[in-house]
Parts: sequence; structure tokens; C-alpha cells
Amino acid sequence: MRRTKIVATLGPACDNLDVMTQLLQAGVDVVRVNLSHGEWDLHQKRIRLARSAAQQLGKEIGVMLDTQGPEVRLGPLQKTLHLEIDDTFYIGREGNESDRILTVTWPGLFGMLQTGQTLWIDDGRLVVEVRSVTNDLITLAAKNRGDVDSQKKVSLPGYGWPLDPLTQKDRDAIVRGLTEEGIDFVALSFVRTAEDIFAVRRFLEEQQISTFLMAKIENPLGMDHLDEILQVSDGVMVARGDLGVELPEEEVPELQKTIIRQANLMGRPVVTATQMLESMVDQERPTRAEATDVANAIWDGTDAVMLSAETAVGKHPVESVAMMAKIAERADAHPEYAHRIKFTTDRIADAVSRASAEIAAELHARAILTVTESGYTARMVSRCKPSVPVVAISPHQTTLRQLTLYWGVEGLAMNSAIHTTDMVRQAIEVAREAMVVEEGDLVVVTAGVPHGTPGTTNLVRVEMITDPVLEGQGLGVNVGSVTGTVVVINSQSVLPDSPFVAVVDGYDQSWLPILDQASAIVASNAGWTSDIAVYALSRKIPAVVGVQDATQKLKSGQIVTVDPVRGVIYLGKTQV
Ligand code: PEP
Repeated sequence: MRRTKIVATLGPACDNLDVMTQLLQAGVDVVRVNLSHGEWDLHQKRIRLARSAAQQLGKEIGVMLDTQGPEVRLGPLQKTLHLEIDDTFYIGREGNESDRILTVTWPGLFGMLQTGQTLWIDDGRLVVEVRSVTNDLITLAAKNRGDVDSQKKVSLPGYGWPLDPLTQKDRDAIVRGLTEEGIDFVALSFVRTAEDIFAVRRFLEEQQISTFLMAKIENPLGMDHLDEILQVSDGVMVARGDLGVELPEEEVPELQKTIIRQANLMGRPVVTATQMLESMVDQERPTRAEATDVANAIWDGTDAVMLSAETAVGKHPVESVAMMAKIAERADAHPEYAHRIKFTTDRIADAVSRASAEIAAELHARAILTVTESGYTARMVSRCKPSVPVVAISPHQTTLRQLTLYWGVEGLAMNSAIHTTDMVRQAIEVAREAMVVEEGDLVVVTAGVPHGTPGTTNLVRVEMITDPVLEGQGLGVNVGSVTGTVVVINSQSVLPDSPFVAVVDGYDQSWLPILDQASAIVASNAGWTSDIAVYALSRKIPAVVGVQDATQKLKSGQIVTVDPVRGVIYLGKTQV
């Protein structure tokens, strides 16, 4: 089973319902629209297409809006400009454009560039040197052969442009995305400090809207302030495309590991992005290096892996998702490399979520059921990377959609619970209905009580999913359950070779040689002080007494499990 989530970027390659449906079927959990390319109306159409495909499939998906942020791009070009080494071209003011005079989205460039500086265009595909700067014209010379096209990104490696964290286009899209389309995540480009996140939070508060904010770490400033950024954001993205522009490529692998480790420690979901299966933009199969890159990101501890051009403009969007799902499933299943963070804590939520993961592993539980309002409990449990599935049950659709990004978490909807017992009962019922657990399974339930207060993960309960067939008075203390074949004791009783449970009505001295061999005794119509109870206690035989009509309801030859502590009898072999 795949535990790592897949984010897919939408673009022209998936602009029809059929492809979108296939993408979701192949394993997409979250779709991303990138405001750096295209206008809002187009993104809105794509979001709606994805939502309708998801609805038809009965699948919950998350929608991520990726902002343009403080980036500078070239303006529109009439035609591609081809450059040989040392060819010159210009950046000029709007209105003066020509084949060789290009415009940029930020006129501040004229006041800050200096002769001799190196700019990267289109993520470094073209490297140019600043030859001179006047108030109206920047002269540039190509340092390599290459093409320049409309809207390509302009970067000054190592420096962030001193721009607002959000463009006006970002602001408009966030408001419309949240109020009209119910988007689930906003990914903030080029986050430099915690102040960038605060500025966005201030904007959201002014608009009286809120959402999950994911900080994209893609420049040296973001790296320098990683911890403070993680403190105030809800998740983080290793944006390797720009990270490898703003910093030397050879540093990207270690930066990836640092970001993932810090995010894991702080319980923030982390997405690893860009060029994961890049060759599949054209080819039907990835390179071995790409397959290894995806698996290594998972073993580093990423929650999700992301496809960009592969699904947005590639020739094989569905195959790319299917391939990523296959690699992820294989990597997730590898116990030797399974990523488990080690942390010390004095926080209740940390200790309880870790305990639920440990208990689930020790008891070979079928799943961890987390009942969650805000998604906090699910996030805490997911962070421990449990070996069993995490089923997060929530009454809120917003929460369920955000869970699509959390490693190993599957979301299910429930009604609001009234109290703890009701909450646990409902969670089990919902999981049973969805067939993620079944009769006979052991589950670990974890939640925060009082129910409805986000951030209080403080409860762990181990529950057997089974309905007891009979109940009575258990005589055991500190003893385990007993599974055996029922033998209803009478003059014709035949004893099996295997362990057996003697079922009696009354007490007869002549039975004692048989009862002595029983693994457990179930007695009908008898109390604590009855002869059979006294006998069982004296012989230290696990027993349940006072089980109404036991000799009629249980049949010789049936397999039952007796819990002598709680006084219940289950049909079949179950773990108690
Ligand atoms: C990146 O730079 O890796 C990234 C994910 O951002 P974008 O796709 O907006 O360039």
C-alpha cells in the first residue's frame, strides 16, 4: 500500500475530464495550479475539472494554489530570441519593446542591478552578464548559447528580489480560490523569513479567510530562516527548481535532507518538488536516476512527492503519476529504510501519538483510527510514520481535504460526536463501513478529549472490532484471553486433541477430571460464590460465570475466544 502522497501540477496536458479522471485514478492526492503561469480563469477551470473528476470517482482531493510571489519575469515577446555567446540584448521600459529590447514585470530592476552581475534567465538555461545599467536600459550579454521566451523567470542567484511576498495577482487568486473554489493549500513562493508568512496571515485575516500555508524554501534567505519559517507555517516545500538556481546545484541534496528532517521534527508536512521524473515529459519511462531520486526523497522522510512539467505539459501525464505511485509504493514498503524520526518530548500530544504508533506495531493492529477536528491529531500520528495505516475520521470536509497531503493518512467523514464513547463507536463504525477494518481486527484509537478542542491529542484506546456473542462475570485478573474448541459438558462429551473451553450448566463432581484439562470454563446461571466459580478459582482455570443459556447458545465444536477479565466470549479466534 502506498503511504507517500502525490501532488500533480495541472496544465494544458490535463485539460480534459478523461485525462483528469485517469490522473486521479493513477494516484494523485493533491492537484496544484501555479500562478506563475496563466491567468486565474484558466486555473479556476482546471480546479473545477479536478473537483468534478474527484466527485465522479467519490474521491477526496486537495487543491493547492501556488503563488507567483516575489519573482521577476520577462514580459511578452513577439518571437523567441536566439542568442549566441556574447550576443547582447536589452531590458527596457514598457512601450520601448522591440526584438532585442525586452521588458520585465518589475521596473525596480533598473535601480538595483549593477554592471558585472550575473543574471539567470529561465532557471539558468540562459546565463547573462550585466554590461551596463542606465535609468531606462539594461544591457545584457549572453554567456551561453540559448533561447529567450516570453514570461521566463529572471533571477539574481543568491539574492531575493526585495518585493512583497504576494503579487496583486496572488492576492486576487487567493481570495477567489478560497471563497469560490474552496482551495485547501496555498504554497508561498520564495519565502525568505517568518515575516513573509506573517504578512500573508495578516492579509488573510483582513479578508476574514484562513487556509493551510505552505512555505516554499527556494533561496538562501529561506534556508537561513528555516526554523522560524517552520514555526509559523503549516507545511513546507523543498522547491528544488529555484533552490538549484539560487544556490549551487551540488548543495541541493543536503538542503533537501535538512529541510525534510526539520519539518519532520516539527510535525510539518513536507513536499519534495521538481524534476522528479523530468524525462517523462517526453519519454515513456523515467531514468534510473529519477526513480532513485523519488525513493530517496521518501526515505529522507518526505510526506509527498510532486510532479510539475510531467503532468502540466508533458506527453505522458497519466503514466508519470502511475510510475511515481509505483516507485512510492515500493519505497514505502521497504522496512529497512523506513523513516522513523526520533524525538524526545515533554508534550502530551507528541508522547500520545508516538505511543499509539508503537502500540499499533506491537499488537499488530490493523489500523490507527484518529478522530480529528482540525487534522492536528492525524498530523501528529502521521509524523511518527506508523507501520500500520492511519485512518483519520473527521466531521469537517476542509480537514479531510487537507489530510490528502499527510503521509500514510486516509480520511473518512463522520458526524459530530457527542462524547468520547460515542466518538470511538462512530469512528469504528465509519471505518468498518468503508471496509478499511473488519470484524476481528484490533485497532488503536487516538484522539483529543474533550472532543472538539483542536490540538489536544491525549487519548489512546485499543479496541477489538468484534461483537461479543455472550457476556457474563469474568473471574480473571491479569490473564490473557483463551481460544479453544467448545465442549458442552454432559455424559457424552468428547474431548478434542486441541485446547478446549468447557461449557457447563451447574456443577457435578464427575466432570472434574474433564474440567481439570480445560483451557477455560464458561458457566451458565452461576455467580461468584457458586461451586463452579470456586472450583475454577482454586484450580486457576480462566473462567466466565453467569453466562445466560451458555449451554444452549454455544455448540460443541465451535471455536471461541474467552476474555476472562472482561467476562466476554467472542466467536472465532480473536486477539483481545
Ligand atoms: C521549484 O522552484 O522547485 C518550484 C516548485 O516552484 P515553481 O514550480 O513555482 O518554479
